[in-house]
Amino acid sequence: MSKNNIKMSIWNKLRNSCGWRSGAKQMSIDAMIPIFAVPAITIVAAQTVYFTVITFITTPVIIYHLDHNFLRFLPRSKFFFMWTITSVVMMLLVFETCVVPLLEILPEENLVFVAGVIGGFFCGHKTKIKADCLAQDGAVLAVAQELELEKGINGTEGDEFCVTCRKKAPPRAYHCRLCQTCVLGREYHCKWLNCCIGANNLKWYLGCLFCSTLAFIYGSNLTMTSVCHPFILIGTLLLPDDCSDVYHQLDLALCFVSAVYSLIVGLIVFSYLIYHLWLIYLGTTANERRRLTSADSHSTNYRLLTSIAQLVC
Ligand SMILES: [Zn+2]
Ligand SMILES: [Zn+2]
Repeated sequence: MSKNNIKMSIWNKLRNSCGWRSGAKQMSIDAMIPIFAVPAITIVAAQTVYFTVITFITTPVIIYHLDHNFLRFLPRSKFFFMWTITSVVMMLLVFETCVVPLLEILPEENLVFVAGVIGGFFCGHKTKIKADCLAQDGAVLAVAQELELEKGINGTEGDEFCVTCRKKAPPRAYHCRLCQTCVLGREYHCKWLNCCIGANNLKWYLGCLFCSTLAFIYGSNLTMTSVCHPFILIGTLLLPDDCSDVYHQLDLALCFVSAVYSLIVGLIVFSYLIYHLWLIYLGTTANERRRLTSADSHSTNYRLLTSIAQLVC
């Protein structure tokens, strides 16, 4: 048995034996980790400024190794999806129970923040629903097309046959091994929403990125200017100035750590939004661009250009 197969079987055994049953649904251990890990990491990070820095550096490294060594061997693990849900719920709770009672936030500012969070949840939910419908339709279509093929009925010209899901896929459709279906205009499989992003749900995904950017960055700014000493940048726009006092009180430190986390996530989500708008402008998808780049990287011209670039730099 290979090393990867051993890891896969250990994790599947752990998932089955340690799962938590709720009604008819069972929650696997990998999906439960973020529910405890995210609040625990936040509390540890809120102790001192050094803990905050160390936590924000080590957590992505640990998650990367966890994914590289274990999670990627699990079929459709909900670890990253649960990390998203737990993080958003935690940041919302910290904002409403610790920041709002400081009475520095105006009701309309709170309303904009909550609208961003609800908008992000709604668009994210629609993105997942559309992806799930596509996977179900794909399974039904595969059976119907298999019957058609057996009867010798030809498909539309230009369609390509996908050997994995045994059905004809339209041009610009690519197979996702995690969703086990072909996705038209496939961008990538989004781990954080646990679904594929394609032509049928891209607009909802962009809506989710936009609302999340607004909620994360605006919420972070409101929190930081409430718990730190603010200064006026332009008009009513405030920025935090001195945050050295926040670690004297645990609730203020929790608000500060949550705001830093919110800002980092907000900037990453914003960069994804800009990236997708740029891809739309170019008339391509992330998947097609990746394939083109990987094909180019094997070409002689690319290697020659890389060598020249290395010499110049
Ligand atoms: Zn396929
Ligand atoms: Zn997928």
